[in-house]
Amino acid sequence: MVIGRWWQGLRRRREQAAVARRAIPDDLWKRTLVRYPFLRRRDAGDAAELRRLSSLFLDRKEFDAAGGLRLTDAMVVAIAAQAVLPVLRLGLDRYDGFVGIVVHPGQVVARRTVADDDGIVHEYDEVLAGEAMEGGPVMLSWQDVRGAGRSATAGYNVVIHEFAHVLDMADGLADGMPLLPPEIPAPAWCSLLRRDYEAFVQHVERGDETLLDPYATHGEEEFFAVASEVFFVDPQGLQREHPELYGMFARFYRQDPAVETAAPRGGA
Ligand SMILES: [Zn+2]
Repeated sequence: MVIGRWWQGLRRRREQAAVARRAIPDDLWKRTLVRYPFLRRRDAGDAAELRRLSSLFLDRKEFDAAGGLRLTDAMVVAIAAQAVLPVLRLGLDRYDGFVGIVVHPGQVVARRTVADDDGIVHEYDEVLAGEAMEGGPVMLSWQDVRGAGRSATAGYNVVIHEFAHVLDMADGLADGMPLLPPEIPAPAWCSLLRRDYEAFVQHVERGDETLLDPYATHGEEEFFAVASEVFFVDPQGLQREHPELYGMFARFYRQDPAVETAAPRGGA
């Protein structure tokens, strides 16, 4: 008990030192909130925690630029602030499984191979705006990150997408099921996610307009990541189209952004 308190005190002091070390200047933080309005629609308590976690994120993670890109403070703060939104109430420890973030100027073409049922290997190119692998690093296209304020209206957010994958892969499996709290039984999570996923695939196959990006048909892990994007950048939309899924995500992320962001706050 005494050791537990001592450890907590040490941990708190270390975090305070890290936040001071990586403090985000006021004007840079305000510009970040203006550029990404879905970060701004939060109360003062959430806004302060978002800024604190962003500093901790910058302290714990290592950024690398690829393809001749030059990283600025504004770029890494933009990435950090969006990355910590999903763990605002889960804690940054959820991201302890990786350290590196590689930022490319734009989307990246990756050569893929896949074996068909007859064992014949096929090669194809996949264009990526981001990628998360177990143990890292997380890859992001700056062009997509930069446009995330505007693309929020279409429910698109590459940073939240990739960090939802990080949460999903915490148990070593990319299957659409992150580490769940005791109040969400795994079978309940699986059956609801699968039900909405299968209905979604049918809608896309029929050619229906969908709120979620049709990319989510690629598997339940992509459905979870795409639905998580919409949960944070267009929560009212997800609540309207997938009310039960929204409710389960609200319990998992311990956030209710459809309510919490219902009255947009103008100030930074
Ligand atoms: Zn994905």
